[in-house]
Parts: sequence; C-alpha cells; structure tokens
Amino acid sequence: MPPDLIASLDSAVGRPTTFDQDRAVARLRILATTDLHVHITPWDYHAGRSSAAFGLARTATLIAAARAEVDCSILLDNGDFLQGSPMGDVEALRTDQRGPHPMIAAMNALRYDAATLGNHEFSNGLDFLMRQLADAAFPLVSANVVRQLGRIPLLDQTLVPPTVILTRHPSDGRGDIHPLRIGIIGLAPPLVTQWDRQQLGTHVRTRDIMEAAAAHVPMLRAQGADIVIALSHSGIGSSIACANMENASAALAALPGIDAVIAGHTHQTFPSPDFTGDSFAIDPVRGRLYGKPAVMPGFHGSHLGVIDLFLTRCAGQWRVSDSHAELRPIARRSTSGKLRALIRSAPDIIAIADPAHRATKRWTQQSIGQAATALHSYFAMVAASPTVRLVAQAQASHVQRSLRDTQYDGLPLISAAAPFHAGGRGGPDNYTHIAAGPLKMRHAFDLYPHPNTIAALLVTGAELALWLERSFSQFRRIASDTQDAALLDPDFPSFNFDTLEPLTWNVDLTQPPRFDSHGRLINPAAHRIRALTFQGQPVDPTARFVLATNSYRAGGSGGFAGATPERIILSGPESNRDILLAHIAALGCLPATNAPNWRFISQPGTTAIFESAPAASAFVDDFAGQRADPLGIGPNGFRRFRLHL
Ligand code: MN
Ligand code: MG
Repeated sequence: MPPDLIASLDSAVGRPTTFDQDRAVARLRILATTDLHVHITPWDYHAGRSSAAFGLARTATLIAAARAEVDCSILLDNGDFLQGSPMGDVEALRTDQRGPHPMIAAMNALRYDAATLGNHEFSNGLDFLMRQLADAAFPLVSANVVRQLGRIPLLDQTLVPPTVILTRHPSDGRGDIHPLRIGIIGLAPPLVTQWDRQQLGTHVRTRDIMEAAAAHVPMLRAQGADIVIALSHSGIGSSIACANMENASAALAALPGIDAVIAGHTHQTFPSPDFTGDSFAIDPVRGRLYGKPAVMPGFHGSHLGVIDLFLTRCAGQWRVSDSHAELRPIARRSTSGKLRALIRSAPDIIAIADPAHRATKRWTQQSIGQAATALHSYFAMVAASPTVRLVAQAQASHVQRSLRDTQYDGLPLISAAAPFHAGGRGGPDNYTHIAAGPLKMRHAFDLYPHPNTIAALLVTGAELALWLERSFSQFRRIASDTQDAALLDPDFPSFNFDTLEPLTWNVDLTQPPRFDSHGRLINPAAHRIRALTFQGQPVDPTARFVLATNSYRAGGSGGFAGATPERIILSGPESNRDILLAHIAALGCLPATNAPNWRFISQPGTTAIFESAPAASAFVDDFAGQRADPLGIGPNGFRRFRLHL
C-alpha cells in the first residue's frame, strides 16, 4: 500500500466511531442506492414542478455525510438506473454524441464502486445499454443475465462480468491495516426476457437467481473474497426459493457465503416497521434476512441504504462479527402528510445534470393539443378513468388502421390499458392531474411513462372475461353490510389493472378474487365480472376478438388469459406513447369524458375504504354511480375515502 494512503488511514483512526476502539474490529460501510430510474434532479417533469421526493443530487449529500463518518466505505447501485423518467426517455431519443449519459456521469462523479443491472436497463434495447455502460467508470456485474447459457452457470457467457472483487484497506481498532477483498455479485429478475421480449429477442437469456448465485458465490470465495455482498435487483418476497422467482432477495440471503444483501425492484423500503411480507426469516425492524443485514433503499434516490459490517480477524481471515442496517431518507412527511426535504442537493451533481435537465424541460413543455376538461387518475384504481380510456382508445385506432385489409380486418376490436400513475408505492404524489386547457408533451409522458410498443392479440370472449377477472382481483372481498374494510389489496400494482374498451361490465365484490397478484388462479369458482357486453350485446365466450395492448402484456407479463407470444398478430415498432401522441394530434382537442364503462354492483349499507391524493377530494363528483366521501389524511400522506357500495 502507498505510504500516503497508510498515513491518511492512520489519521482517520482517531475519529469517534460507534464500535469498540480497543478490539481488533474493523468496519466496512456499504452505501447503496436502488431504482434511481434517471432521477437526478429534484424536478418532477410530469407535473412541471420541483419535488422533495426524489433525486440522486439529494441522496449525494447523504452519501458524502455517510462517507465522512467512517474510514472505509463502498458505494453500490442496485440497478434500474438508466430508464424510467422523462430525462431517461429524452436521452434515449438523442442521436448526437454529447458525452456520457447524465445518469452515468452523475454516478461517475459520485465515485460508485460497482453496480448491477436491473430489468429496466433493457427497456431501451441492448445496443443503447451497452453504449451507455461503456462510459461507466465503475464495474457492472450481473451473474444471471447472459448472452448464451452454458451447461452449468459457471459456463454461461454473461453480458457483463458476473462478479467483481474490490480490495479495500480498513484499519481495525488497534490501527492495524489488512487488505479486505469484497466480492460483489449482481442478480436481476429472470423474467426480464419476457417483460422486454420485444427489445431483447433472443439476444439475452437469463438464469434463475438462486441457481446463478449458488454457483458464483462459492467461486467468489474461491477467488479470495473475504466477504460477499449480493446486489439483488429483486424484491423481498417468499423466504423459500422457487424456480425463476422474481422477488428472491429473502431466499437469496439464506445462501451460505453471502454476508449482506442489497434488495430493490419493488420500490419498497427495508428496514422499515411498515414492511409487510413473508415474516419467516425476515426481520423488518433490524433489517435482517436470515440474520444477514439487508437494505432496500426505496426508489428514485428517496433513501440511502447504509450497512455497517463489523469485521474481526481470526486466524488471518476476516469474519463478520456484527452488523447494522439502516435507511437514511432525503425527505420526511410532516404530520399534515406533506413531504419536506431534509437536505439540500449537491451542487456538483445538479451541474452535471443541468444540460439534460434543460433539454428535458424543453422537450416536455412542447404543446401537443388541448383538453376540454381536466383529466386525472385520482380514482383510476377504483373507477373508470378517462386517463386510462384515452390510452386504450388511441391503441384501438392504431391497431384498426394497421390491420386494415388483413385477415383480421372486421373482427371486433377491444383495447386494454392500465393506470401507471395511481398512488401505490409511488406515494400520494404519484397521480396524473392534467388541467383543462393546453396539453404538453409532459402530459403524454405522464399518461404513458413506459417505452412499451404496440401489440395486438387474437383472443376469445371467454378470455376477455378472464382478463377482467385478473384485473379486478386487485379488490378485496367485500361482504354485504360490512363497514370500512380496505377495498384494495396493496400487492397488486396499478400497471396490472387493465380495463377493456369499449366493453361494459359490472363487478361483484361479494365474490372472492379469482387470481392472486401474480395472476395465479386461487379461487376457480369465483366470478366477479357480470353483464359483460360489447356494443350492447353479451360477449359470446366462443367469439374471436382482436385485443390491442402493449409488448409487455402481450409477452405474458402479469399472467393474463390469452396473452402468449403465439397469439400475437401485430407487434410494434411504434411505442404506445407515440400512438397516444398521434391520437391526441388527430383529435386536436380531447373531448369531455364519456360515461363510465364499469361499476361495482350496489351493496346498500356497505362501505369500503380506499386512498388517493389529498387533492382528490375536489373530484368526488367524478365518481359516477356511487358516492365517495373524503376523510382525513394519514401519516403516509394519502387521503382516505369512504366508498358507499
Ligand atoms: Mn425499478
Ligand atoms: Mg426493476
């Protein structure tokens, strides 16, 4: 080690630390971010206003502080950094050569030590991804995303190196310095090849997370890693592994040889007393998975994950003797539910992102049309929403044109769409609200944030009914004459709440859900969808229909009936957002909302509770057919509403 480095380490030993100075204990601090999705500046490009909720520039201030507290730290990112905001989309559209991607530039400036690939790294295709990664000054690792599968995991040709070993030199409490070899393995949900089939084709394959880790972790140890950190772009799901599981971080922690887990993908926070999930082996308060320290640092830079590993040397080898896991938030909700920033943004990160910030603002402020009335998604999870129906109508008109003079011309055409900004884990600001008047490009991004491409399937009437059963399984069973039960099951994300244009139907909530949140059949006898009609006639279960949707859904994501690759009769290249833009341009002015196409079957004397944005109370009249009374605002910032069924 160079003498100046030893001197600087020595001088740091005298700083106050929380661990016993007298023992031969060293501390490695692991700092982690996840699911940044190109959120660098604290600016909400959809709403056109600043936001306290996100931005790596703010997290950067926490990173600097957390680094300064210790002698030895590493900074890791857990994937989904390169796509998922208007800035990310503007960057993906850019054709000039103007230096590195702002996200990569910001991560380089923050001196990230390593990162892994999330599923959204593939959303703009493989070529785009590899071009951006070429500018990264830090290693990217992913052990289960491969170009070619081998006979065993160790023979896979991975897209980027599966693992990396970083060497650091922590000093122990006595001031002795020994090299510490830190093994890092990266893992992503294997379903990415299904979600991004349109972009990836057969160029990328995946392997089961557990299978890849079980092979590569012992290899890391054999290569001399003293400790191993899993960068697991995967949620904290069942603690028992099953094949090709999406949310494998809990199960992964059980693997011998792994010392700490960074989780992500589901945009939750961990540790957190609010964390709900499989309780076996999961300690949400101390941040332990099978006794090992773990963090999931929210999303968009909302939190910094901090894991301290206390290491002792035993017979010349490092051993983790203790650990601490915590999250540090960039903002906090006041008792009134309002989110307030706790720290300032780092000016150097703001400066790095500034050209992209200006370009994104310019792009998103372009005029695209007019809206006759306000459009909002405040009730998109609990009632027919014009924000969703507009997307469905745009898809239908595109597919109709595309199939003209084909064998499918003349078949009845249905279109499926779901809300993207509708509260949930995105929080009480995660709604679309477009005022009547001029429509801007940012509104199209808001209505359709994902880079999905158009697709159409050939389905039967019976499958359309099952499609809706899948969507409407997001509601809890509401027995008659019960009061104030929670209406929604929070395990169902909004993007799987597809409704179908131009069908009409009623929903019987006294029936249990037919499917679980993964689309698995759980109650085969249950049917919630009643009086399903097309142009005033009952839908014939045996009749054939064309169903317009997106590439993600058509590839099978969400487990909807009839959504399999063999049924695809039309497939991109046009993005659903561009199709929406063309639809808005053709209309010029969006007309006033049409009558709702579905409703809950009345249950007089029965009420249920749902949440929405505080501002949603001004729009309860949009709840055609049923009454929703605004209640108070909870500590999570959402306003509660009482729905009279
Ligand atoms: Mn994500
Ligand atoms: Mg993800």
